[in-house]
Amino acid sequence: MDTMQALIFHGPGNIRVEERPIPVIGPGEALLKVGVASVCASDLRVFKGEKKAKFGVIPGHEMAGVIQQVGEGVDEVAAGDRVIVCPIIACGECYFCLIGRRNRCLKRVTLGYDEDGGFANYVRIPASLVHLGHVIKIDTEMDYELAAMTEPFACVLNSLESCRVQPGGTMVIIGAGPMGLMHLVLGRALGAARIIISDPVEARLKAAEELGATVCINPEKDNLIKETMAMTSGLGADAGFLSVGNVQPVEDGLGAMRKQGYFNFFAGFPPGSRLDIDANRIHYDELFLTGTQNATTDHYVRAARLLSVLPDARKLITHRYGPSDADKAYESRLGMDGLKAIVRYH
Ligand SMILES: [Zn+2]
Ligand SMILES: [Zn+2]
Repeated sequence: MDTMQALIFHGPGNIRVEERPIPVIGPGEALLKVGVASVCASDLRVFKGEKKAKFGVIPGHEMAGVIQQVGEGVDEVAAGDRVIVCPIIACGECYFCLIGRRNRCLKRVTLGYDEDGGFANYVRIPASLVHLGHVIKIDTEMDYELAAMTEPFACVLNSLESCRVQPGGTMVIIGAGPMGLMHLVLGRALGAARIIISDPVEARLKAAEELGATVCINPEKDNLIKETMAMTSGLGADAGFLSVGNVQPVEDGLGAMRKQGYFNFFAGFPPGSRLDIDANRIHYDELFLTGTQNATTDHYVRAARLLSVLPDARKLITHRYGPSDADKAYESRLGMDGLKAIVRYH
């Protein structure tokens, strides 16, 4: 039997690279030969036990590669197509699927959590993903490293659009990890004129500065509200994004918003996280508080196109590993060492 190297999630704190059989596909399915899979903050949350995944699953939901083989009856994609995968397996029939919000499907399962994902040489792409159009072809010039970031960029595009980011607008980003920095890169591309970013890690602020942040703030030394007000003539920012996995900075974040500003809870939080905020701030200032998680198929398609014209996105990749070192890619991220870590499979 032909085997492949796969990273296996055995439970919180327990991942190992093991030999597994190369998946055999059935009618309607496709076999993806993985080019690159990248580590997401949510993979780390699963590793830490903050988010659930099936024991024994192959993690990884950010992937790009080439279709190796298709099953009987597949005409949406063909062997040799270079693709990215939207990992959301949706029913296609519930209320949310019918309004185009498959990321909120009532029966949603996801590659890398419930079904085997991208940290392996090959992935079986379930029939529903194939026929829902979740296997998306990419430009021939686009390399797999860049393409593998389509999933996180789709999530960020959803986030920015949910906050109505406008050309010329002012954004506040709390957290300069890979996702916060993607908000910066994409926010700039969408025309945000002033971007204030906050993070206690100096190396990350330096990366933010290089990627074009207007003001970089270390919350241990600087005051986010004061700096934002100084920059906006006391008005506050149009949109704010919480891109760290704890709610402690929310008060400052909301304090930096203008009346009728939008604030998005982008990151996931440890179970039981609660908020203590001034309800009148929401009432009298008509703030919009929202959350986004993952993205619609439309966001994926547009994120893939946007990435091909966002050379700065490549700067977010700081660590590269081979298939037998996929667990080390997690370690680098857990150590807050660098930004995006990827595993190259082919
Ligand atoms: Zn992700
Ligand atoms: Zn559904």
